[in-house]
Amino acid sequence: MPRRKVLACLLLALSLPASARISRSRPVPVTPLATVTVVMDFKGPNSLNTTNEMQREAESILGASGVQLAWRSRAEAAAEDYPDLVVMTFRGNCKSEPGLPRYDESGPYAVTWTTDGQVLPFGEVDCQKVIRSARSAMWGGDLARAEYFYGRALGRVVAHELVHMLTKTGTHAKDGVQREALSPRDLTGASLTLSRTDLDRLKQYYQGR
Ligand SMILES: [Zn+2]
Repeated sequence: MPRRKVLACLLLALSLPASARISRSRPVPVTPLATVTVVMDFKGPNSLNTTNEMQREAESILGASGVQLAWRSRAEAAAEDYPDLVVMTFRGNCKSEPGLPRYDESGPYAVTWTTDGQVLPFGEVDCQKVIRSARSAMWGGDLARAEYFYGRALGRVVAHELVHMLTKTGTHAKDGVQREALSPRDLTGASLTLSRTDLDRLKQYYQGR
């Protein structure tokens, strides 16, 4: 029997609260290398605004490598075959204001499944943990746009897990979105991109196929 484990990564890193600002980075045109279908399996409530922003953010981060993302619900995905498909499960409430912590906050925002050391195309995001972390870096006018900041934070977490799944490694970077731990400020700040090393890894992987 293959042993299933989780690649517990993307740990919460503490940082001083800092102002979070919405700013749209302009995507640099990159030749598309591949389209990856991301199946979203929400186990709890979610909001359209947050989900849209999550998708936009993850597309922008991965797009810089030439990897394009196509989003599908479970029902949509069941009706068709896709060559490159990953499944992202969202646990808990992905929508509303976080409640008080109910468990140890030092755990990961998200995990990716592995079997016998092999990274599988299945990831799981803990929505409340991500949202609660993002919320801790927001204040003043940010709160009026909370849905967008939550979406941005979720998009960065999703992008991080996607890099593990697409490159089939648990490798972390020294900088950028693929660092092992991301602070609340990292999740909500103006920009968080792939490091040059990660961009090259993704390009090499897809160009070499
Ligand atoms: Zn990781």
